[in-house]
Amino acid sequence: MKTGLIFDLDNTIYPVNSIADNLFAELFGLLDRHAAVINAGHSETVNRIKEEMTRRPFQYIADKYELNDAIRQDMEEALQSMTYDLPMQPFEEYHRLKDIPIEKFLVTTGYPKLQYSKIRQLDIEDDFKEIFIVDPDTGSQTKKDVFAAIIEKYGYRTEELLVIGDDPASEIKAALELRIDTFLFDPNNIYPDADATHRSNKLTGVLMLLS
Ligand SMILES: [Mg+2]
Repeated sequence: MKTGLIFDLDNTIYPVNSIADNLFAELFGLLDRHAAVINAGHSETVNRIKEEMTRRPFQYIADKYELNDAIRQDMEEALQSMTYDLPMQPFEEYHRLKDIPIEKFLVTTGYPKLQYSKIRQLDIEDDFKEIFIVDPDTGSQTKKDVFAAIIEKYGYRTEELLVIGDDPASEIKAALELRIDTFLFDPNNIYPDADATHRSNKLTGVLMLLS
């Protein structure tokens, strides 16, 4: 029986594409300014980076595409000071999950100022017993470390927890490594072969597991 749910934020509780145009306009402008350098290896690299930025924290992408220090610094300065202050809405289905009478935790990776501003705009802070923001800029703590810390702090057994997220390479992988059950929310079926305990293109699939 599950007595604790651990949620990811981006693309799990709300769709990043709903805020992407406003959120990324400034950052994409910065990338475009560096396009000649970034695209030197492959002409589509800037476009790939833009697409991945809607799904993954920039730090991982910067490493993956081996961006140079000048570009990283420009982007990171912009990201560190950024907030999102326009209205935001969770996925419609999230409203059914937040009412489940089971303790919930939010574990998200990214720049703290920006992540907190999104939590505020979504008005979801009170849905969670504790919120953790993993900032890859300021330490080596990972989502796996945070999951382990939740187990330790609240005395859970791994089988009592369920991690709900959209990224097989992030929270799903971290949870599986700790033998925590996972629910991969994959609304567009982009990860048909990914490892996950449960998967669905509907967030409300979680309700079935808990009943
Ligand atoms: Mg996510």
